[in-house]
Amino acid sequence: MIRFEKVTKRYQDGTTAIKSINLEIREGEFFVIIGPSGCGKTTLLKMMNRLIELTDGTIFVFNKKIRDYNIHELRWNMGYVLQQIALFPHMSIEENIAIVPELKKWNNEKIRQRTDELLEMVGLPPEKYRGRKPKELSGGEQQRVGVIRALASDPGIVLMDEPFSALDPISREKLQDDILELQRKIHKTIVFVTHDMQEAIKLGDRICIMKGGEIVQVGTPKELIESPVNEFVREFVGMQSVRGKENIRLENIIDQLMTSQSPSSPSVTIPASSSLREALILLTEHEQLLVEKEGQIIGSITRQTALQFMADGLQERGDGNG
Ligand code: ADP
Repeated sequence: MIRFEKVTKRYQDGTTAIKSINLEIREGEFFVIIGPSGCGKTTLLKMMNRLIELTDGTIFVFNKKIRDYNIHELRWNMGYVLQQIALFPHMSIEENIAIVPELKKWNNEKIRQRTDELLEMVGLPPEKYRGRKPKELSGGEQQRVGVIRALASDPGIVLMDEPFSALDPISREKLQDDILELQRKIHKTIVFVTHDMQEAIKLGDRICIMKGGEIVQVGTPKELIESPVNEFVREFVGMQSVRGKENIRLENIIDQLMTSQSPSSPSVTIPASSSLREALILLTEHEQLLVEKEGQIIGSITRQTALQFMADGLQERGDGNG
């Protein structure tokens, strides 16, 4: 879907921000890029939509070199969400969302339909919000509009550069939940930059850890927690591994949680996209939960298996003054 082949970026002052990176981002995945400040995350992201031109190597999008695209075509097919989204202050919410669809010359009816559908999806009732100006929305609501604006023309790819980091913790968690929910409905390829490991573990299907312009490890949240390739990754992930584990989605660990026990009745179901933390809360009241994905039961969890999974994390970290 997006493929980097030996991509290097050297800025004019000689700074090498990206050092011969190879990377493949798959269709439909939620791909998170994380690493310390200055490691090259933003540079990597902005090279994808050519906001930053690469120095060496090639980036392919849908198997076509990005330099062979008409730049508008490339950008219209990649939604882009920034940390401080800049909604146009004099335009209504609806007009803000409609910018790219207008450029693409969609008809008015289609635009109205799309705008309403998107507002609906992130819990902003269209009849109440579509006519408002950005300043009549809270920070969290504005950021939500920023996210759906990036989705408006139905791009295959959405790039997000620390989209929630300016928000208070509560709005931030809410938006993280929203984006997961949204992703379940729309199945876009999302490339998401953050410096927050909790966020990465919660959102990412795969996480790419960077350091000094290079990729240190790419893996699922579970792989990074359980098999860090080196001390850097271990520290980066490990410091937060117990809380990190709570954020893991059930669908990512279901094979480890499976019990041979047959379901006790009456059975309580929990969506596979829920976090382990949500499961643990329910497990204080129920012996066993059935994990459901797209209408199918894909496994079950008991209090014991869930707690065992958490405890394994403690041992791996060598807790206990070891
Ligand atoms: P991150 O997003 O991980 O914080 P960046 O991609 O912004 O990192 O930056 C990577 C490196 O490139 C840093 O050392 C940064 O100082 C440098 N850099 C970023 N933009 C420029 C620029 N326009 N000119 C020179 N150096 C830059």
